[in-house]
Parts: sequence; structure tokens; C-alpha cells
Amino acid sequence: MPIAKIKKKTGIPNVNSSLRISSGTRRFGTIFVVSAPSGCGKTTLCKRLLKNMPGLCRSASFTTRAPRRGERDGIDYHFVSTKEFKTLIKKGKFIEHARVFGNFYGTPSGPIKKTLKNNKDILLSIDVKGAMQIKRLLGPRSVFIFILPPSLDALNKRLMKRHADSKGEINKRLEIAKEELSYLHKYDYAIVNCRLKDALSQLEAVIIAERLKIRKH
Ligand code: 5GP
Repeated sequence: MPIAKIKKKTGIPNVNSSLRISSGTRRFGTIFVVSAPSGCGKTTLCKRLLKNMPGLCRSASFTTRAPRRGERDGIDYHFVSTKEFKTLIKKGKFIEHARVFGNFYGTPSGPIKKTLKNNKDILLSIDVKGAMQIKRLLGPRSVFIFILPPSLDALNKRLMKRHADSKGEINKRLEIAKEELSYLHKYDYAIVNCRLKDALSQLEAVIIAERLKIRKH
């Protein structure tokens, strides 16, 4: 079939971009949004995914929570005061922001724009409220992935094993988890984290499949 006809059928605008598609890079970057109730292994999964997946960048969010041991300012998060965070909101610096477990979290819009402009994909590990804001704003450019625990009972056991929270705090997290799970139908993919290795393979499979799509936006 002549190229001109292929172009018309597929919407591929020119030969160069069709070559770029077949060589694995696309004209636009995609935002991969990953959410999960606390204790589902999302942080570990995202860290490993970023290590394994070339062309996938992370975004350092702003937060008002205190740094945990080993966390570095500007790398894991930008740690700011509530006053600074509110000023950033007023200046329109966030693409989304939400209050999670009593602290503020926000994704800065600058790095997102820059990454997408450079045809790179970006990974956002954010809560469901933030994810819904991204969906409203950039839905067609985004892919939404929800990480699930094998069951609420398993989640309870994982939270207890972490020894990070009191019984009251664990119950609160389980209540919030139930609320977060009610957003599942708004996501594109659900991955049950029974075994980390399997969940990681599935997460990688989603990224690869999305990158191979011909018509995305
Ligand atoms: P943690 O304090 O444990 O790192 O994160 C608590 C929750 O806040 C997690 O669900 C995490 O995904 C979410 N979170 C982290 N950064 C952001 C952000 O920029 N925006 C939103 N909406 N949630 C975030």
C-alpha cells in the first residue's frame, strides 16, 4: 500500500513519525499515574520500575510532611512548610495537589511540561484525589494504574508488619483504603500485588503496551 494511503488510514502524519513509532519512540510523552492504598508496595514497585524502564522519568513532588530517615530534599520530595506550599498553590505552580493523611502534596507542573515536550514518559505516584485532577486536566495524555492488595485482610497484616503505625493509625489507613478502592473503576489498569516480582512484570507490561499503541491521543 502506498505511504500516502497508510498515512490516511492510520493518521500517521509523515514517514518520519511512522519510523519513530516503529523504533519505539513516539511524538508525545505519556503520564503514567500510579495510585494505591498505603501498604500495597507502590513505592517499592515504582522505584524498581524507574530503574528498569528507560525513558521513564519521575517527578519529585512537594510535600509539607517531615522527611523520613534517608529521604533527601529535592530528590525524594521537595520538603516545604505549609505557608510555602500555599504560596506555591497561589502562584499556580502545581498541576494537582491534595491533602493526604493530614499533609499537603503537590506535583509541580514545570517538570511535567518539560518531560512531555522532550517526548519522555513521566511516572506520577500520587493519591486518588490527585489522580482525578490529572484525569480532568490531562486525561487523554495519561494512563491510570491502580495497585491493589490481595485483600483487605492481607493489607491489614502488611500494615501491622511494618510496625510503623499504631493500631488506631492502621484502622484509619484501612478506612481510607476502602474509600480509595471506590475509585478503582476510574483507572485503566488494576494490578494485584501478591508477589512483588509478578506485579512489577505486569507494571512493565502496561508501560510497554502503552508505548506500542499506534493511536494514543
Ligand atoms: P508518603 O508520605 O507515604 O510518601 O505518601 C503518602 C501518599 O501521598 C501516597 O499515596 C503518595 O502516593 C501520595 N503522594 C505523593 N506525592 C503526591 C503528590 O504530588 N500529589 C498527590 N496528590 N499525592 C501524592
